[in-house]
Amino acid sequence: MPSLSTQLIVIGGGATGLGVAWDACLRGIKVVLVEQSDLGQGTSGRYHGLLHSGGRYVLSDPPSATDCARENEILRRLAPTTIEDTGGLFVSAPADPPDFPDRWLTACQATGVPAHEISRASVLQREPLLSPNLVRCFEVLDASLDSFDLLHLLCAALRARGGQVWLRHRVERLVQRQGAIVGAEVLDLATGERASIGAQVVVNAAGPWARSVASLAGVDLPIALGRGAMLAMASRLVSTVVNRCKPPSDGDILVPVGTVSILGTTDEPVETPDDLTIAPWEIDLLLAEAEILVPGIAGHRALRAWSGIRPLYRPAPAAGAATRLLPRAHTILDHGETHGVRGFVSVIGGKLTTFRLMAEQVLQVIAPQLGSDTSCSTATTPLEPSERRKFHQLPGRLERVERTQGAPPAQLLCECELITRSDLETALGAIEAPDLDDLRRDLRLGMGPCQAAFCGYRAAGLALRRLGAPADGGLTPFLHERWRGLRPLGWGHTLRQMEFGRRVALELLGLVEPAETS
Ligand SMILES: Cc1cc2nc3c(=O)[nH]c(=O)nc-3n(C[C@H](O)[C@H](O)[C@H](O)COP(=O)(O)OP(=O)(O)OC[C@H]3O[C@@H](n4cnc5c(N)ncnc54)[C@H](O)[C@@H]3O)c2cc1C
Repeated sequence: MPSLSTQLIVIGGGATGLGVAWDACLRGIKVVLVEQSDLGQGTSGRYHGLLHSGGRYVLSDPPSATDCARENEILRRLAPTTIEDTGGLFVSAPADPPDFPDRWLTACQATGVPAHEISRASVLQREPLLSPNLVRCFEVLDASLDSFDLLHLLCAALRARGGQVWLRHRVERLVQRQGAIVGAEVLDLATGERASIGAQVVVNAAGPWARSVASLAGVDLPIALGRGAMLAMASRLVSTVVNRCKPPSDGDILVPVGTVSILGTTDEPVETPDDLTIAPWEIDLLLAEAEILVPGIAGHRALRAWSGIRPLYRPAPAAGAATRLLPRAHTILDHGETHGVRGFVSVIGGKLTTFRLMAEQVLQVIAPQLGSDTSCSTATTPLEPSERRKFHQLPGRLERVERTQGAPPAQLLCECELITRSDLETALGAIEAPDLDDLRRDLRLGMGPCQAAFCGYRAAGLALRRLGAPADGGLTPFLHERWRGLRPLGWGHTLRQMEFGRRVALELLGLVEPAETS
């Protein structure tokens, strides 16, 4: 088995793991990050898209609110290309607790979360689809954050500084010697080959899979999993993030992201990190709650639903509590102290907004173990904009497609997201062992209104021709994944689109087994 030696292994290529690896790298620590899939395949790619102002947590979790406010400001400086400065609103509806807004505003001041009251008239001028019945309105510094772009920036920055990122490698064993973790055995999921990596410290940043990773070291992590469903409406119904000004609950945030608006979330306890099902009542609830903010929202086209899993540290006393009631703050456990397993640290929970701070705190624990006394510099080291274009800005793409300056017009492969053939060819050349789902995360392939009804086949054909790889260019799993997000939305325009896509796949191309699409 090939082997190499490093100082630090980070397990998990979500925001937390990449943040830890980036911080370590800046301190001169040799690091290998191992991700079993692609970047953002876990919760970091399945979230609500909100760069929190902190407003949501000022009463329920004041320290988290302060952390969010600080990190919000820092991230805007470090990675401006990943953030759309939509601004945010907290609005109360007639049925919301009338004493809440004043208590909330006082708590904003106490926690350092910038917020001020504005008139309903000015809000309605800015957001004409919002309900005219809103009672009170406040402005905050929420924004929308493209996690795929952020993860790519982190990965590129990390690699540029000599850090290693192994995608599609799963940690299958942690090597233990005399009460200390001294390395890991990893499986290359593309080739089936195994490798061993020796390290002084291993960080478990495996998100909802943290419990199974910890079990590789014989550590039992008490973790509760909460699954949240989200629903993207096919148009941008608001241009500002809109939160309900009431105690946090299901379906109380609306986030504009690119061309869509995302309603979310629910919070259901689940047993496994792979349980991404969405129950019909969750969609009904999200729409019913959003109706209070945007009357008539159910008449707009729903584009797609998805869900993400939140791991919440649940030490014994809170066992059995509803996951919505468990603290959202992160937990860092040095298993040398908690379980007598040295060189092994887990970081659990938190928010994408606070990933940098979480990483800094992890490094406070492990840097001394690695003999480093260099201080943290992630708050002041910008993540350079990637060399890729910022593909997901539709106006930018449209301009590029239309301004051909005498050259023949670019060939469009995806009409919804305006992805050209050359975009796709560039991405195919840049990604190691790409599949169509990677192209979706990189280019937004198949994420528009037709949900891959046309571009999926074109991309599969091109991938096949370029790479000579999988029999159908990875098309079947890609279509299954698109289908999963459409299935809970079988009414109106979406039902027509689903039926059209299904007939193309099944009857025209004979691609997808009927049993799996029923
Ligand atoms: C429904 C929902 C909505 C949310 N909305 C927001 C929001 O709007 N704003 C916000 O700030 N936060 C939000 N959050 C929280 C935020 O998404 C998470 O805190 C963050 O994404 C967690 O990132 P992570 O890196 O810890 O985990 P993940 O992104 O899940 O990464 C863990 C990675 O570990 C990998 N892995 C697991 N096991 C192994 C193994 N054995 N070997 C190799 N790799 C492995 C997985 O493949 C995965 O990619 C939301 C969370 C949920 C659930």
